[in-house]
Amino acid sequence: MTEKKIVSETLYDGYAQSFEVSELLFEFRTEHQHLEIVETPFMGRVMLLDGIVQTTEKDEFIYHEMMVHLPLFAHPNPRRVLIIGGGDGGILREVLRHKNVEHVTQVEIDQSVIDMCKTYFPKHSDGAFDDPRANIVIGDGKDFVANCQDTFDVIISDSTDPIGPGEVLFTSDFYADEKTCLNPGGIMVAQNGVPFMQGQEVTNTHRRLSKLYQDASFYVAPVPTYIGGFMTLAWATDDASLRQQTPADIAPRIAAAGFATRYYNADIHVAAFALPNYVRALLS
Ligand code: SAM
Repeated sequence: MTEKKIVSETLYDGYAQSFEVSELLFEFRTEHQHLEIVETPFMGRVMLLDGIVQTTEKDEFIYHEMMVHLPLFAHPNPRRVLIIGGGDGGILREVLRHKNVEHVTQVEIDQSVIDMCKTYFPKHSDGAFDDPRANIVIGDGKDFVANCQDTFDVIISDSTDPIGPGEVLFTSDFYADEKTCLNPGGIMVAQNGVPFMQGQEVTNTHRRLSKLYQDASFYVAPVPTYIGGFMTLAWATDDASLRQQTPADIAPRIAAAGFATRYYNADIHVAAFALPNYVRALLS
């Protein structure tokens, strides 16, 4: 009987998820991080950066739909979008499904992630990197927003966790520079961890964003391979009415967009902003 090969995530001391691995497809230490791509019988292909699960073929739709369609349908007329991180291409793919989006700039620090995800996760980007509306910048998101000449209606920060190259994307300086890239009435959303496991990240982000925006809060999405319960996605805008929209406001925009989703819908859009008391208690 051949021994099963198991890969365990190394994000938390004393608690982990493990994957049976049928094949190690790629492994390389880039100039920024350790990149692994494995084939698993249960979740399909899985990418890890510095031992932390970034995306899987089986559950990526939940995260990418919630990070993209909630802000883009909340915004009355999103034309220009900035993506920070997102090297696997899933965010870019979903943004480009919105035909009213005219331009997307994506700032990704690691070219290797884009290259390897094009090869091993072709459905994630699904040709998005070649879309004429997409402008791909290889660089640090921190530097980009600090020197930003363009402005955007929606900014989506799809970074790794605040360790390694992603750490700078959770600082007050970054958030302040990032806001200079946002048009009036714009929306910023960001991956902000799993509150049951990383509650301090919610407190820190809320404190920092509340100093910059009229409305700073979170919405939730249950991504199975971001373990420990649902994850919180940071939300910030100076137009507080955008978080108060009803399914009746959102549903017509979804219908007009003319594409199907597997997780996101108008009721989920509104319900996602409802935070349980233990998460409310984390808000500074
Ligand atoms: N969905 C994942 C999550 O929630 O953890 C994130 C996936 S995506 C692969 C994360 C991307 O952020 C990676 O491609 C990584 O290279 C990129 N990244 C990390 N730090 C960055 C920085 N400072 N500037 C731009 N991209 C960065």
